[in-house]
Amino acid sequence: MSHLLFPLPIPSVAIAGTTTRFPVRRIICVGRNYAAHAREMGKDPDREPPFFFFKPADAVVEDGAHVPYPPLTKDLHHEIELVVAIGGEGTDIPRESTLEHVFGYAVGLDLTRRDLQNEAKAHGRPWDWGKGFDHSAPCGAIHPVGEVGHPSAGRIWLEVNGVVRQQGDLTELIWAVPDVIGLASQALRLMPGDLIYTGTPSGVGALVSGDRLRGGVDGVGEIAIEIGPAGT
Ligand code: MN
Repeated sequence: MSHLLFPLPIPSVAIAGTTTRFPVRRIICVGRNYAAHAREMGKDPDREPPFFFFKPADAVVEDGAHVPYPPLTKDLHHEIELVVAIGGEGTDIPRESTLEHVFGYAVGLDLTRRDLQNEAKAHGRPWDWGKGFDHSAPCGAIHPVGEVGHPSAGRIWLEVNGVVRQQGDLTELIWAVPDVIGLASQALRLMPGDLIYTGTPSGVGALVSGDRLRGGVDGVGEIAIEIGPAGT
């Protein structure tokens, strides 16, 4: 009989309306999925296949948390995103059945050390240090499909200290949720517990310690966090 040398906590996200929690297996993120954001990042929003990157599962942060201002950066950016919580296993999922694999939806933040990401881009290096750091994936409560359906339209927005910074609509997604799930499932076996961050609308910008963030997707839910002092 073998056993683990020490226990590891299982990262998880609240499920709205219940004390049951959604265990997080992987965090899969889509890059540049709104045309206006692609433009502000200096790219043509043509309909090239989407690209993906990961954050570690334990980068997830609870709604209402204080997020320490992360190390190594002077340019921490907010990216408000619709998050898809996968509830059913699948690979090579046909587009028409992708939504059967969704447990629910949440509102998340893809926090980004933009200076490190830009440096990585310039040198052709991986994005991990810019994207996959500790506390980089705040995620609000997951709202099950039975409650919110499958949102394909609705305002997505972020306020920092009460001022609107980001604003868009789910109808502006270059690759909609069924496309994203289908394409991700061609590369990976999607599994229950996977979260997919679907990309951010335009208006990304820098945060400082003490900033209070509140964002949402109309018809889905909200998230609020505060940026704390520097730390890990
Ligand atoms: Mn993003």
